[in-house]
Amino acid sequence: MSNVCELCSSEDNLDSFLVDGANNEVNLTLCSTCRDQIKSEELDENHFNCLNDSMWSESSGVKVLTYRLLDSLGRQDLLDMMYLEDYEKEWAEAGIHRGEKLVYKDSNGVTLEHGDTVVITKDLDVKGTGFTAKRGTAVRNIGLVPNDAEHIEGRVNGVKIHILTKYLKKS
Ligand SMILES: [Zn+2]
Repeated sequence: MSNVCELCSSEDNLDSFLVDGANNEVNLTLCSTCRDQIKSEELDENHFNCLNDSMWSESSGVKVLTYRLLDSLGRQDLLDMMYLEDYEKEWAEAGIHRGEKLVYKDSNGVTLEHGDTVVITKDLDVKGTGFTAKRGTAVRNIGLVPNDAEHIEGRVNGVKIHILTKYLKKS
């Protein structure tokens, strides 16, 4: 174990931190501030100014973790300057789950796409509109609500509303 945090050089509450992925693994020594922020995925940009230095580390594990953190911070400018071996890049990417495509499914588990026509399977009170979207109503040309696989949007009675996918059937 190192006697300072391998990212920020702090000596506070050091503990080991596993960096794995793509059949590689290494234990780094990190301080509690770094560990807590990485675990909670709430990165304080000021604290992680330390990445400006760690990106030049000769340790693969430090580079891999730095790459992942710069990615979550959206620091493409620094990522572009980093030099990683192919296996290090693969290792780093294995720990990044970016924009995984959401799958929107109707009540039967059929995948819904933008532009589909669906039928409502249950009478739904539509909040704020004072009408009920009746069971059996067809909704044409639906849209997928971004970042929310439980809802689609579509027009009912001329009003654009969000509808739970579990009350829909693709037609
Ligand atoms: Zn640290």
